[in-house]
This record gives sequence, C-alpha cells and structure tokens, in this order.
Amino acid sequence: MFDQSDILSLNSGYALLQTEDGIQFEGSGNITTYDDDKDGKVKTLVQLINGKNTVNEIIQEFTHKYNNVSKQEVEEILKDFYDEGFLENTSEDEQYFSLLTAYQHERYLRNIGFFQMFTKNHLNKYIAQKKISDSKICLLGLGGLGSHIAFSLAGMGVGTIKAVEFDEVELSNLNRQILYTPNDIGKSKAQQAEKRIKEFNPDINFSTVETQLSSPEQIAEIIHGFDFVISVADKPRFLLADWVNQAVVAENIPLLLTGLDTTRAMLQSIVPHETGCLQCWRDGITDAKSVNMYNYRKESNIDGDNAAYTTLVPISAGLVCSELTKYILGYGEIKSKGKLLKFDFNNFTLEVEEEWTRNINCKVCGGSIHG
Ligand SMILES: [Zn+2]
Repeated sequence: MFDQSDILSLNSGYALLQTEDGIQFEGSGNITTYDDDKDGKVKTLVQLINGKNTVNEIIQEFTHKYNNVSKQEVEEILKDFYDEGFLENTSEDEQYFSLLTAYQHERYLRNIGFFQMFTKNHLNKYIAQKKISDSKICLLGLGGLGSHIAFSLAGMGVGTIKAVEFDEVELSNLNRQILYTPNDIGKSKAQQAEKRIKEFNPDINFSTVETQLSSPEQIAEIIHGFDFVISVADKPRFLLADWVNQAVVAENIPLLLTGLDTTRAMLQSIVPHETGCLQCWRDGITDAKSVNMYNYRKESNIDGDNAAYTTLVPISAGLVCSELTKYILGYGEIKSKGKLLKFDFNNFTLEVEEEWTRNINCKVCGGSIHG
C-alpha cells in the first residue's frame, strides 16, 4: 500500500491510452477501461501521478480542482489503480537505486521493468534485481538444457554461477547446445562454455568445474555454499539423480531439476526438510507400472536419449529459470515445489504429473536436520 507522503508513478508495464470518453490501461493481457470521463476527472488524476507528487499532493490538487469530490473518494480511486497494478510506489527508489551499478541499471533495465509488478508485493524493483545479482547458483550439466539455462542465468544477472561438465562437444549436440559452434567439436564443453558466457556477460562470476560427477560426497563438496542447485546432468544414468538428491539434502540446498522425455519437458523442485526429497518421491510411488518400468529401464540400461527436440529445450530452461526467480525473490506460487510438472509438446498443456510429501522415515531426508 502507500502512505500520504509516498510518491506514486504510473507503472510503465502498462500502456495508458487516452480515448475520447476516458482512459484505458493495457498490459499483462488485460485492458481496463475508465470511460464516461466527460468532465476529465480521471485524466486529471492520471496527470497528477507523475513520479514527483506525493499522495497528499495528488489529493490536495485534485480536490482543489474538483471541490465536489472528497479526499476519501480520490484515495479510493488511487487504491483501485494500485491494486490493479497500474501504479508504482516509487518512494523507495532513491534509497535503493544505488544498490545497482550504472552498468547493471542499463544491462538489466528490462528485468527491472518486469520487477515493477512486484511493487504491490512490497518488493522494490532494484532490490529484486539485487537479489538476483547476489544469488549463487550451481548448474550441473552444460548440454542442451545447461546451455540455455547458463545463458538465462547470465541474462538474469545471477552474480555467481558454477557449472559442472566433463564432456566434449559433438556435432550432434548442435541442434540445441547453443553454447557451442562447429569449431568447438572435440573440445571441452566446460572450457568453451566459460569462454562464451564470459563474453556474453563479463559482469558476473561464471566458473566451471571439468569433472564427472561420481559420488554424493563429491557433489556435496561442489555445491557447498551455493543458494540453489539446478541439475540437468544425466550421467551416470539411474545413479546421478540419487547422488544429487543426497548431496542437496546433506548441504540443505534447494534443488531444481528439469529434463526432456521425447515430447515432454519435465520440471520438479525440492526444498530439503520442507518438501519430500527424490527418495521420498520414489518410496511414495504406489503405481506398480511406473516402478516396473523404471526397474526395467535401469536393468536393461536403456538410454532413451535419442530425442531432444530443439524447441522443447528452451521451454524447459525457461520454466526452470522462472521457478528459480520465484524462489530467489520469495514471490508467487512455486508450481514445481514438491511436484513433478509436465509440459506436453503435443497439446501445450502444463500439468502436475505427480505430487508427493515428505516421508519422515526417509533414509535420505528423514529425521531432523543434521549439522
Ligand atoms: Zn526424503
């Protein structure tokens, strides 16, 4: 909300159109019309919301011009505008502007424009960008999903990114692994990725670890001190997910996972000791068919990764980085928290595929937090 001494601006995320009979706000897929404004009251009010006037000044000037309108009525309209998201309380902007460097203000201008919508959730847009810039993300895997996620994290301005990859670039990677070019074939993905991301955003701290993930203890050491882990690595198949799960629970770091399954992009996230972990999920599966299928694939060592369609990869990366944004900012409903979401290429639906709760007797995350 706002106080009498607060300064209000129009939220630039909404286009304000003057019509013959009034005004309309257009944005976020909605058009809100204030027509029947023949005496120009709404237009006058909007003109007074100029990023300089305080709420009190707006009310004073308005009621001076229209002395048949009460102070309460003006406040009601301002409150309505504010609740709809048309206004931004910019009183704190001066205070928080210096949280970002001049470079960050310009580079992340469009991110900051997006964060304007958080004003009604009491989150200043500069603080939002600062939170992103201060966050430390560990990314396991620099293949197709890892490529897009690395670029997204760097575009968001995540200040510290550590990525882990052991593989080399192959020609068949290039339908989706946009970190690499044909000149990189046979070269280390970690090294090429580091070169590309540092060129793309020299303002962040991007580092790589060139190693194969080999145990929960090794992964715990790699992710130690990070705020979030995103895992898109898939080797060694059938073992890695469990190792990563054990490592994030041991280090108490939230984990976001995403992957492709031919025509589906899958997404899930866990918060250790709050949601169930991957072991809780597996223990909770009662559908014998799923368990049998999993065991069959595991025993037969079915690879199943021939399909990785170009367009599904950035969708999946976009979903996981959007969820990460919500985690970092503490804003909105995190749809994947303790759930497995499925985006279907064929019908473009995003649905909850599975949902599970924490098993207090889980062999990985059961009991109280250790250490
Ligand atoms: Zn568990």
